[in-house]
Amino acid sequence: AEAHVKAVETIRPLNAFITETPDKALEMAKASDARRAKGEAGPMEGLPIAVKDLFCTKGVLTTAASHILDGFKPEYESTVTSNLWRDGAVMLGKVNLDEFAMGSANITSHHGNVISPWSPGEVGNWSRQLVPGGSSGGSAAAVAARAALGATGTDTGGSIRQPAAFTGIVGIKPTYGRCSRWGVVAFASSLDQAGPMTRTVEDAAIMLRSMCGFDPKDSTSVDMPVPDFRAALTGDIRGLRVGIPKEYRVEGMPAEIAAIWDQGIEWLKAAGAEPVEISLPHTKYALATYYIVAPAEASSNLARYDGVRFGLRVEGGSLKDLYENTRGAGFGKEVRRRILIGTYVLSAGYYDAYYNKARQVRTRIKWDFDEAFQRCDVILTPTAPSTAFAIGEKMDDPIQMYLNDVFTVPASLAGLPGMSVPAGIGSDGLPLGLQLLGRPFDEETVLRVGQVIE
Ligand code: GLN
Repeated sequence: AEAHVKAVETIRPLNAFITETPDKALEMAKASDARRAKGEAGPMEGLPIAVKDLFCTKGVLTTAASHILDGFKPEYESTVTSNLWRDGAVMLGKVNLDEFAMGSANITSHHGNVISPWSPGEVGNWSRQLVPGGSSGGSAAAVAARAALGATGTDTGGSIRQPAAFTGIVGIKPTYGRCSRWGVVAFASSLDQAGPMTRTVEDAAIMLRSMCGFDPKDSTSVDMPVPDFRAALTGDIRGLRVGIPKEYRVEGMPAEIAAIWDQGIEWLKAAGAEPVEISLPHTKYALATYYIVAPAEASSNLARYDGVRFGLRVEGGSLKDLYENTRGAGFGKEVRRRILIGTYVLSAGYYDAYYNKARQVRTRIKWDFDEAFQRCDVILTPTAPSTAFAIGEKMDDPIQMYLNDVFTVPASLAGLPGMSVPAGIGSDGLPLGLQLLGRPFDEETVLRVGQVIE
């Protein structure tokens, strides 16, 4: 814990942490030592981790990287973080993200962008500042820079998997319902899932087991036993059918993304798995569907920030002024854009044309996967359509930014488990990730196959 507290200080130029909690870390490590001495070590005993600043932590600032939550100290702890502390993990602090987890590059944070530890040049004097991906950019940077052994992330449309790919680490979004959403600041409730970001698949298996489990406080939490994910890492994938969706060969896919995908297929074949071509015909509608459903739910979830209950309060003459002033000052540009899109697609005149249509297409996307999983046991795709880009690129054009999520959102809409594993290095010297998707609640197969690739 001491070494990691130091490391957290060392990586300050990356802006990965919003709040460092060194005293808490050392105090928790002491308690951990005491438990260990008594022979009561938990599965995460003494392991220093970072917490995405979207998880409520009792008495510790929780910002969601938004100005509107300034000064907010929750009076309760999220279920996921409680589970981790129960199992002995040690908290290093709260890490940066896109505001309310809306973004793919960690550039919409009120607390400034995060710089990837892969950026070339001297620390603090980089020749190019690369994004760590998003929205869990602080989590990814902290783990990739070796300042934390693991970090919690959340994934609504790719926010665990894409930053993991950009920074050369492992990130798994479990099946919707595996991890409790209780105490996680809501973005799009039917999509949000927590998951671990770690250096290795084995670490991810250990941390995931601690994070998940049934929680009566979340109505969408699923009451199913939590397997020993680590025991699933047998290395044996002989006879496993690996689906390769032809629709993911999107137009304009860079040659090296296609190449690493083919390489992944070869590795799995060499280990005894059998690649099969599958079709997910509604893939082309996934992005459009996601960017209706997610903003719709966000606009509803974010209605609670009114200047009365949480964080920032900008007074005005009337109650309406208070609402308007607080929300006007508190939300950043991307969040406002999502609220506007969301309220538009939910408005009486457009509800059927947009929101209802999107819900129907979402079901089709789920059916595509149901059908595909009759013919295969796991699906292999690239995680992202490019390696990490530089801060400043794609910034003026939200559509360009949304395209980043083309491979990750379908599984989010379908609620399936998805994982990114580091698979190689591109011609620009930056990490490339491959994504594995599994049947609902079959994280074990996803992890097992992932370990063969890493
Ligand atoms: N990049 C996507 C978005 O901006 C996904 C974000 C996430 O998964 N939280 O909505």
